[in-house]
Amino acid sequence: MEHPLNVYNNLTRSKERFVPIQSPFVGMYVCGPTVYNYMHLGNLRTFITFDMVYRYLVHLGYKVRYVRNITDVGHITTEFDEGVDRIGAQAKLEQLEPMEIVQKYTNNFHDVLNQFNCIPPSIEPTATGHIIEQIEMVKQILENGFAYEADGSVYFDVRAYMQKHKYGALSGRNVDELFENTRELDGQDEKRFFADFALWKKASPEHIMKWPSPWGEGFPGWHLECSAMSTKYLGEEFDIHGGGMDLKFPHHESEIAQNTACCGHGPVRYWLHGNMLTVNGEKMSKSKGNSFLPLELIAGSHPLLDQGYSEMTVRFFMMQSHYASTLDFSNDALKAAEKGYKRFMTAIDALEKVKAGTASTFSVDDLRRDCYAAMNDDFNTPILIAGLFECVKQINLMLEGKAALTDADLSDFKSMVHAFVFDVLGFRRENESAGNTKALDAAMQLVIEMRRKARENKDWTTSDTIRDQLKAAGIVIKDTKEGVDWMLE
Ligand code: AMP
Ligand code: ZN
Repeated sequence: MEHPLNVYNNLTRSKERFVPIQSPFVGMYVCGPTVYNYMHLGNLRTFITFDMVYRYLVHLGYKVRYVRNITDVGHITTEFDEGVDRIGAQAKLEQLEPMEIVQKYTNNFHDVLNQFNCIPPSIEPTATGHIIEQIEMVKQILENGFAYEADGSVYFDVRAYMQKHKYGALSGRNVDELFENTRELDGQDEKRFFADFALWKKASPEHIMKWPSPWGEGFPGWHLECSAMSTKYLGEEFDIHGGGMDLKFPHHESEIAQNTACCGHGPVRYWLHGNMLTVNGEKMSKSKGNSFLPLELIAGSHPLLDQGYSEMTVRFFMMQSHYASTLDFSNDALKAAEKGYKRFMTAIDALEKVKAGTASTFSVDDLRRDCYAAMNDDFNTPILIAGLFECVKQINLMLEGKAALTDADLSDFKSMVHAFVFDVLGFRRENESAGNTKALDAAMQLVIEMRRKARENKDWTTSDTIRDQLKAAGIVIKDTKEGVDWMLE
């Protein structure tokens, strides 16, 4: 099978024709979440991006093994200082077991992705479930001379590595350059070089998550889990590795170094990095205080939000920009997406009502070619959506009797449009969504007004019937100082 998919290769910095190693099989690894708190909308963008990539590859007919890990050993704060166990810290804060923290936030992660119509991966391995594989990898790197032990910890030896290989090719960082911007080692540090990173870290007595190893009790370095688990499930060399742009360095750069130190070559043919969701141009991040949760976005319950937006409006908003571009959040942009999505889906729904004509007035093949051309050009979803709006235009013309398709062309057109809308872009018809809540609210305002009029006219039978029947339907109305409000019981 050959598909002309051009993807941007981060290592060669060019668009290259996608050639899976073992056609038609594709191995895809995506860095998953660190499960110590709720994921924010920025994290969600990255996972929706790779859901789209996965969906498109499956649509093209590839058999994709999609591996996305769960980081359930918490261990990193800054680029070079490893050792802070975020999961342990959160466990102390919430007075729960570390594994209760892991389960709680893993469940939330799954619930949210499901709500946004993301397909679960083929394999979802956890870091704690692969300690043995990680220890084996450390042993191999030590044996190959690219690591050293220091007081129960093992560090990757960047200088030894750089004598044979390049460190920094993926991120375009130059270690000497980095050196200028980084503090000098203070002599107390057990690392030999500032850029060395932990493969295995000795655990202090109070550290909760720790395991026995040949070097004593400790825990694996963050970068190691992805090297060990991707190799285990996808082999020493696989097709696509994804994650957010902020993982390029040091995480993915270090993954390449670890795999190369272990097996003599890099692990990945195509690196795909999703760009950041920003707020007023700044990366959305919990530590910056500019983040909100996907569920807050749906409810509209965050100071940054004017109103709630449905899951599919958010997905549409994200798909309207290319995955490798930054996307700035704003209420105006989301309101525009809400309108656009409604117009889009109204036409897709109306397609069911279109009747076939005796002759075709436009070419389905031309529209199809444009849609594939967009997606084959590095998963260009905004261009695909523009192509689908051309289809929307034709649907509306057909409804007005100004365009037509023969029976065979119409069914071809429908399956093409449905495949891109539902299978590739992952949209779904909305049911329990903010959009419906808005419609319900409008209807409720009408009912509340009818009840007010009934009461004004002292028509107690009508006003009591309204109240009782709403209650039976699970809706309560409350008289408040600001007026009458309603809520679901
Ligand atoms: P974490 O749980 O922090 O490792 O993040 C999970 C994923 O979300 C990673 O792939 C990050 O690169 C990605 N991510 C974090 N912040 C953002 C953001 N503001 N926009 C897009 N992706 C993000
Ligand atoms: Zn990773």
